[in-house]
Amino acid sequence: MIKNTYVILGYGRSGKEGEKHLLSLGHKVIIHDDNQNKKPDIDWNDAIALVQSPGISPSHPVHVAAKANSIPICTDIDLLQKRSPKAKYIGITGTNGKSTTTALIGHILKQAGLKVAIGGNIGIPALALEEVNEDGWYILELSSYQLELSNTLELDIAIWTNISPDHLERHGCIEDYVKVKKRIFDKAKRVCIAKDDEHSKLVSNQLQIPCTTIASELKNCPADIWIDASGIMHSDGMSFDCNELETLKGVHNWQNIALAFATARHILTTPQKIWEYIQTFPGLAHRQQLIASIGSVDFINDSKATNADACEKALRTYLGQSIFWILGGVAKTDGIDHLNPYFPYIKKAYLIGEAQDHFAHTLNGSVLFEKCSSLETAVSKAYIDAKCEQHSVVLFSPACASFDQFRDFEHRGEMFIQIVNKVNP
Ligand code: ADP
Repeated sequence: MIKNTYVILGYGRSGKEGEKHLLSLGHKVIIHDDNQNKKPDIDWNDAIALVQSPGISPSHPVHVAAKANSIPICTDIDLLQKRSPKAKYIGITGTNGKSTTTALIGHILKQAGLKVAIGGNIGIPALALEEVNEDGWYILELSSYQLELSNTLELDIAIWTNISPDHLERHGCIEDYVKVKKRIFDKAKRVCIAKDDEHSKLVSNQLQIPCTTIASELKNCPADIWIDASGIMHSDGMSFDCNELETLKGVHNWQNIALAFATARHILTTPQKIWEYIQTFPGLAHRQQLIASIGSVDFINDSKATNADACEKALRTYLGQSIFWILGGVAKTDGIDHLNPYFPYIKKAYLIGEAQDHFAHTLNGSVLFEKCSSLETAVSKAYIDAKCEQHSVVLFSPACASFDQFRDFEHRGEMFIQIVNKVNP
């Protein structure tokens, strides 16, 4: 009997695209989604593979059953590579900076006139990306969940940003998290890797694939491309000043810039041109995004800062300005305690959402604060205070998840933008 069925586990956006694609190829598709009342009967004897949504754990009973029946397990990224085998592929992973690096590489290659499709964990699901031919590039952000499930991924260039503890509830310990992330290299032809943290340094030293190494914030570090403490990037005897990049502010972005530059150097010939393209990067929404400058006040939307680590990057970026900080939502377990070193630089904090009492307690005695409950009240109060200063910033960097008041971080950021656009100068 010739098998003809794919089982899709998880019927979100990527599951739906997977179904459309597989039906168009004449396959039978069985959908299993825990949110649907009816659970389908699965005849594993007729199953070619299980296509699993990366957000679903490998401990899910359907995954376990597929494994027990020796059925291959894959993700939509594997199906994309089957669909478009001649295109070239760049994959980006790491704990932080994936989306920025993905978008920046996409921007550079687009500016250079190449055919590019950007997706995966960012924006468009893999199978909804347009077809690019053999001269074109798919640029895919890859989460640890995707890498854990993907078995056939072949990349022309694999990019590694950094490692810090994350998603350990799924991966168990940092060592297992790193092990899963390292799957990005399994069939990669070339690697660009930043080795600023200890885990990444170790991974980089073990690599047996042609490799461009990046180091940022380190003077005279033995790396192919490195950024010194003043933000000057050094590559092949040339230097470029990262401080000129308005949409990639902050030390954390230096790593993303260097990785994107290193990647583009493997594809494009003129480094100066690559730098020109980087200079025109419009920035990503909700990540330290300048929304408006009204008089002496800049309004920054950093809604993507859902934890204190990301928020720390934003506070660090704006230390030269008077900071009026809007934060709150659903607090993470480690709260904002470790942002303590930044407290003396904050003029005032405006607290919103579920975390406001918790954060009020943390800030008490160190930072002037006001409980505002809603984002509207917080913006209006922050603006009244901020416009009395010479050079100030209303920084919306919540250090919290958004789901007490908003659908997700994107919705939260859009609401901030709408509110700021209504501010009367
Ligand atoms: P990801 O897609 O990995 O979540 P993003 O590019 O969306 O990363 O950035 C999310 C947040 O992480 C940013 O707002 C910033 O605070 C922080 N960040 C971005 N790049 C880096 C980096 N290279 N190292 C550490 N933190 C970073």
